[in-house]
Amino acid sequence: MNVIEKDAAAIEVTTGNDVKNVLIVGVGGQGVIMVSKVLALICQDQGHNVKQSEVHGMAKRGGTVFSHVRFGEKVWSPTIPKGKADILLAMEWAEGLRWLNHLKKKTGTLIADTQHIVPPFACLDRTRGASSGYTTQLPGDILENLHDGYALDATGIATEIGNFRVSNTVLLGTLSAILDFPVEIWRKVISEMVPPATIDLNLKAFDAGRSWVEESRKVGKAPEAKPEKKAKKQAPAPKVDSKPVDKDFELVLTPEWCKGCDICVKVCPERCLILNAEHKVELSKPDACTGCRICEWLCPDFAIDVVKDATKTNQTSASA
Ligand code: SF4
Ligand code: SF4
Repeated sequence: MNVIEKDAAAIEVTTGNDVKNVLIVGVGGQGVIMVSKVLALICQDQGHNVKQSEVHGMAKRGGTVFSHVRFGEKVWSPTIPKGKADILLAMEWAEGLRWLNHLKKKTGTLIADTQHIVPPFACLDRTRGASSGYTTQLPGDILENLHDGYALDATGIATEIGNFRVSNTVLLGTLSAILDFPVEIWRKVISEMVPPATIDLNLKAFDAGRSWVEESRKVGKAPEAKPEKKAKKQAPAPKVDSKPVDKDFELVLTPEWCKGCDICVKVCPERCLILNAEHKVELSKPDACTGCRICEWLCPDFAIDVVKDATKTNQTSASA
């Protein structure tokens, strides 16, 4: 069960000078700022005084990004103090847990994508089969101690719709069912904010996130959660660069997506990777690769996958 609803009514947003606080958190590249801007514009459109602040600039995965949105009759400060967020919208599970202490204890609502993006510092042991330091706390354990909470596989929903990148819009749909603003204004602002070619896809994602909450209210529980999975672009034709003898993983590179930023080359602890003459990534020392996955996690363009070879191992840990 991924939803706790002790108060299924939408949050009242228009009473007096009662300032509402929405904290949006995630990691670089997830669209935290887009979500925050959409919300701020909607609040403005609805006649609220709005203050928004953000910390971002992480061009690669693994960096925390967060944004505060405060709205009401008159907002004096852009920052939400600890314990004062009415809504915490987390685009990554561990980031949601990290910021839980900002949520109002008695009335706060958590909305969280259950997807896991394991940061490199959670992978200090780089040997094969080692477990990562990523949180083991599950949605059910967290939500049952909150006033109100929604944990959904937004990334999985977005992937099914057609592109995992619209998971942020799925979460906007979920947020729209919690905040009492007209649905038309959400759709209008989203359409104005996203690239024209993706408007239909984003509106579909918005509807899916909104329906997820409405469905959960109708039946009194959350729709069946899809198995958690890490979203990836569909590789046109992944190229297997190496399959070292006696190793239980493959390093799969997709040069078409590599923009030659050099991040993986610099972060690989074993110095296995190089950029070739075309500035595309290549595995230069297959035997030295431990499958630690740091390159996979930090590549901003999803050009590297460390794929477990099920025929060679029974391990189920994150390590390939
Ligand atoms: S594989 Fe990814 S991290 Fe490595 S150079 Fe290419 S884009 Fe950068
Ligand atoms: S190539 Fe990637 S998986 Fe292999 S050792 Fe280097 S960082 Fe780790």
